[in-house]
Amino acid sequence: MNSVPFTKEETEPVTATRVLVLNSGSSSVKYQLLDMASPSPATTLNRAAAPHSDDHGSRLACGIVERIGEPGGVADHAAALKQVADELSAQGLGLDSPELAAVGHRVVHGGTRFTEPTLITDEVVAEIEKLVPLAPLHNPANVIGIKVARELRPDLPQVAVFDTAFHSTMPEAAARYAIDRATADRHGVRRYGFHGTSHAYVSRATAALLGKEPSEVNVIVLHLGNGASASAVRGGVCVDTSMGLTPLEGLVMGTRSGDIDPAVIFHLARVGGLDVDEIDTLLNKRSGLVGLCGDNDMREIGRRMAEGDADAQLAFDIYIHRLRKYVGAYTAVLGRVDAIAFTAGVGENSAAVREAALEGLEPLGIEIDAVRNAVRGNVARLVSTGTSRVAVAVVPTDEELEIAQQAYSLVRP
Ligand code: AMP
Repeated sequence: MNSVPFTKEETEPVTATRVLVLNSGSSSVKYQLLDMASPSPATTLNRAAAPHSDDHGSRLACGIVERIGEPGGVADHAAALKQVADELSAQGLGLDSPELAAVGHRVVHGGTRFTEPTLITDEVVAEIEKLVPLAPLHNPANVIGIKVARELRPDLPQVAVFDTAFHSTMPEAAARYAIDRATADRHGVRRYGFHGTSHAYVSRATAALLGKEPSEVNVIVLHLGNGASASAVRGGVCVDTSMGLTPLEGLVMGTRSGDIDPAVIFHLARVGGLDVDEIDTLLNKRSGLVGLCGDNDMREIGRRMAEGDADAQLAFDIYIHRLRKYVGAYTAVLGRVDAIAFTAGVGENSAAVREAALEGLEPLGIEIDAVRNAVRGNVARLVSTGTSRVAVAVVPTDEELEIAQQAYSLVRP
């Protein structure tokens, strides 16, 4: 019998090793295309420890489509994703590529239902939509991104990676608010935590930096960006985090208050005459650093402090005071702390914040090295003294890489 001779290309299927990561916000879509073949997830972790001939060696493309639905911007999320597809095609990396293994979607709220990266089905989309009341600003945009991406490539596995998932291991003692249990359960009121992909990535990368397995170390992660959160991670498992039902709880942030007495809300309603939406906007958008001094950018606050600006100084002091309280609290929660890791825009870049946050904590075994701390860099590094019992690290976060790894781990052959 005659057999048709196959060429090598025809007989060897293309291995799909690329993951497109989509972060669909209310008015923007951020994307990154990563190749997961090299480096492997294991070496990727090591990159954090021994970086970085090429910090994003696996990143093939990235970009952002902004001002969705605004004058001068694209009309809607469908148009935004079409633009993403066009930008990728222009670079020879089109969505039709057989090398694409999956799309990984950042989804903000997974509730108690989603605690793992999840292959998206119609049922999963419906469940994410049910969680909209818990994240009214974020989940609807995430769902639209998922729906449009599924329409573009219906055959492609799509994976949802939840910002809350890493925190789902919190014990009930940390996750429950001390309010009437039946009321809390009826309305899903509990602490979920956010920035989970960052806390997961940074806590593992910190272990790698110390030459240890995640299971061997206890880490306090301080994710200090415009939004900010702390977590206590015991042996790779999150046991507490500072954000709660929503991202409003915890640290002082760029525009959010973080912790306040809940009675402030009743007071503002009854005495101040503000309605619930006004209070929501006040606490989420007009509080934190911007509410205290008019600026939410730590660079600008630093500049004003250097000029002797008292408002900027007070905002900084309140920010640092709260941060120190969480370091102390999580030291007590963990008992033994091996490392404190700073990450995100402020944590990675502001030596002043790191120093002020840990200054005088030598009795807790925390000794920051002023010289090391002052050196700027974009690689994972230690900034503690050689004698510090607790390692202090600066670890650049990479949420897209973490999402890609989690998505790929579900679909890889
Ligand atoms: P993120 O949300 O992680 O992108 O962080 C954004 C925030 O990082 C900005 O609002 C700034 O406050 C802060 N930031 C960025 N670069 C610097 C820097 N060089 N020094 C101090 N803070 C910075």
